[in-house]
Amino acid sequence: MLAAPLKIVWYSPCSLRPKPTLKADLHCHTHLSDGQHTPAFVIERARANLVTHLAITDHDVSQALPQAMGYQDLKLINGVEISCLWEAFEIHIVGLFVDPTNTHLQTLLSTQQVRRRERVAQIDAKLTALGTTGLLPNLLAKPAVALTRSHVADFLVANNVCKNRQKAFKTYLNRSGKLFVAAQWCDHTEATRAIKAAGGIPVLAHPGRYAMNKTKLNRLLECFTAAGGEGLEASYPNIAPDMNQYLMQLAEKHGLYLSTGSDFHDAAAHWTDVGKFPTLDRAAAQRGIWHHPTWGQHDNTQPPARLKTL
Ligand code: AMP
Ligand code: MN
Ligand code: MN
Ligand code: MN
Repeated sequence: MLAAPLKIVWYSPCSLRPKPTLKADLHCHTHLSDGQHTPAFVIERARANLVTHLAITDHDVSQALPQAMGYQDLKLINGVEISCLWEAFEIHIVGLFVDPTNTHLQTLLSTQQVRRRERVAQIDAKLTALGTTGLLPNLLAKPAVALTRSHVADFLVANNVCKNRQKAFKTYLNRSGKLFVAAQWCDHTEATRAIKAAGGIPVLAHPGRYAMNKTKLNRLLECFTAAGGEGLEASYPNIAPDMNQYLMQLAEKHGLYLSTGSDFHDAAAHWTDVGKFPTLDRAAAQRGIWHHPTWGQHDNTQPPARLKTL
């Protein structure tokens, strides 16, 4: 019988623990916006999934994470995902390492939160006219600071107005839907400025999900970098491999760092999880956002230079 092949594991010279592999999930949600879970749940899930760096990036809300817990295996990053406008397009800009106590940022986020509540109030009026009452009080009783269309979708399903979330968006909440109300988001330059004022790194979220052709996407990236944008997400769930490659080229062309994130919302959605997204290949990882000059200033638990990138 053949002997089992030897398994070679690289051990760092100063300890007998395997060298840690950088796994940065820099985009996820909690119940402060439209995620289903508490920040504590998402943090524990990240640890279970061997994530080394976790940014919680709720829609239009940023609250301090429990850094004081002092996790040895996980670096927590205060973040946010701001809904904003570029020309007529709604885009999302993630802010990493933002100071959640910064007044410039919090002023912008409070305005967005008020506009979100006003939008739900308008949707509530339309829904009442269709015969279903109680949307706004139901949503205000939730832990969410930022009310989203996902919350409305859940209410529609719970009240048997539609069978599932997808139908809720298709029939009621999308642009052509019966309850559609246009959102009043800030301009993308304001979002980027607020993130930078709070000491953060602005990253364009999921660029492949916008209904834009290549010319438009290039133009967006020109405007984003001119406004102070510094990174783009090049890896997120369900990204097509050719889009992944195209985003790498765009990042190089526009001098942007590459970010990675799951956009996790719900553990019951089995196609997504904290830390689950295609890993950047070795060449792409050279542009990883963990090489940004301010990353190391914040990262006092595991200096990135000593981490092996995937
Ligand atoms: P809002 O920012 O309030 O417009 O809500 C947008 C959120 O709704 C997104 O962040 C997604 O989480 C979710 N969403 C958008 N479109 C869909 C869809 N077709 N099906 C399910 N969820 C969606
Ligand atoms: Mn969402
Ligand atoms: Mn988004
Ligand atoms: Mn998101």
